[in-house]
Amino acid sequence: MRALVWLRRDLRTIDNTALIRAMDKVEQSSGANKGLIALFTVTQKQWQEHAVSAMQQQLIFRRLQALTRELAELKVPLHIEVVDSYQDCGSLIAQLCERMSIEHVFANSDYEFNEQQRDEQVKSRLESDNIGFTLCADKCVFAPGSILNKQGSYFKVFTPFKNSWLQRFDPAQLVVRKPVALATNGLFDARQALELPSNIDDSQVVHNNTTHNNATENWQVDTQSIINQLRLFSFQKANNYHDNRDVPSIKGTSQLSPYLALGMLSVRQCIARLLNGRHPQQLSEGEQTWLSELIWREFYQHLIYFQPKLCKGANFVAWCNNIRWQGDIEHLKSWQQGTTGYPIVDAAMKQLNQTGWMHNRLRMIVASFLSKDLLLDWRFGERYFMSQLVDGDFAANNGGWQWSASTGCDAQPYFRIFNPISQGKKFDPQGEFVKQWLPELQSVPDKYIHSPWLWEEFASLDYPDPIVDHKKQRQRALQMYKEAKNSEC
Ligand SMILES: Cc1cc2nc3c(=O)[nH]c(=O)nc-3n(C[C@H](O)[C@H](O)[C@H](O)COP(=O)(O)OP(=O)(O)OC[C@H]3O[C@@H](n4cnc5c(N)ncnc54)[C@H](O)[C@@H]3O)c2cc1C
Repeated sequence: MRALVWLRRDLRTIDNTALIRAMDKVEQSSGANKGLIALFTVTQKQWQEHAVSAMQQQLIFRRLQALTRELAELKVPLHIEVVDSYQDCGSLIAQLCERMSIEHVFANSDYEFNEQQRDEQVKSRLESDNIGFTLCADKCVFAPGSILNKQGSYFKVFTPFKNSWLQRFDPAQLVVRKPVALATNGLFDARQALELPSNIDDSQVVHNNTTHNNATENWQVDTQSIINQLRLFSFQKANNYHDNRDVPSIKGTSQLSPYLALGMLSVRQCIARLLNGRHPQQLSEGEQTWLSELIWREFYQHLIYFQPKLCKGANFVAWCNNIRWQGDIEHLKSWQQGTTGYPIVDAAMKQLNQTGWMHNRLRMIVASFLSKDLLLDWRFGERYFMSQLVDGDFAANNGGWQWSASTGCDAQPYFRIFNPISQGKKFDPQGEFVKQWLPELQSVPDKYIHSPWLWEEFASLDYPDPIVDHKKQRQRALQMYKEAKNSEC
């Protein structure tokens, strides 16, 4: 048999369900003419539509080079093809299959609406050519759609979802499969297998209004380094995760999100390493908290699977469609550039713009600020995040934004509004994080670091006045949400 494995957001060889299924299938088939190729499709127009950040695209291209080598060790050549959009994938793959006499295509499922449509189109195109198409569940421990409540519906609250997840979870069944090189592959030419197409490099990156320096070098692309990072976190930091995870000046979280988002690492690898032979109940408090975050990731994947409207820009909660966002659109730029006059918000946005990553506590603070202080539609923020984040993941990003804007599933109630000053005082008391990203505030005493306009020497600083008054905006936000809720019929 000749097969093709189509890689998308699963850019790894270890524990890659579709790759290993395809390799098994080819290995077990009889006949002299057997072979397997891997394919990655660069879909620039689609990336532009989805606001995929330049940082994430660069990480993808860097990873493809490492992946080419890792696949070559398994005797699987990687083909990289450039097409405009998802609509072009069907004919591209059908032509490849015809040219190489491929009978079956394997891929891992994606759960976003456009991606599901893409796969349906590809499936029907291939089937009309008598080519098989198998989608594998790979992204989550439990496939989206498979965790249901007693009524047979999906969970709309995280804690019962998590309890159900934990109840079903059996560590003995958590297998991280390592592929073994194919004995023979008629489609593998050792001399050619390491050659990347000459048109695959940074010039392919589509820029979506980026402002940062696009430095992805801080992120690893070879599997061993990523696994080392996971190991270090599990052994050295996971125990203190519950204490440190909210402090942005400490590297207390794993910073594995770009790898999980692109599938350079699987969630099973993370959990297997964390458990290290133990049952979840035997984990320390910090370790259990980290496991919960991985389950949040699955919760949001389940949500987009059950509610495709989330991928089409809809609020999860129906009455939120009545919200009349009253903010000044001019403020969007100040928020994006980190010039709102609220240090914790501005420092966070500088971190995002310059590194492509932002600490989770800060994501919540800036998201709340955009929707509840600036009274701007959360979708502006959602898209801007995608255009900057190296770990941009539709489900987690949409879930995080809707949680913060109180429009989502199991979101925080609308009347809970983060105060950017007290959040700053609580999670960055000495302003260490703020001063790292806003050196112009270096001389501000701790007491005023989160409200520098109150400092007598504020006028000497090169730092803006607050663009809005938090107390006033809070009242406006409460009114805005209340009116929307009351107009529910
Ligand atoms: C407004 C907003 C937008 C967000 N956008 C994204 C996004 O585009 N991509 C993304 O991966 N995460 C997103 N998150 C979730 C979270 O902020 C990041 O996953 C986390 O900061 C990544 O850092 P880490 O790898 O050190 O996480 P850790 O704390 O070490 O957590 C481990 C992993 O669990 C997952 N995870 C952790 N928290 C969450 C969460 N709340 N929801 C879903 N998954 C989670 C991530 O895969 C993460 O890498 C967003 C959160 C908010 C509030």
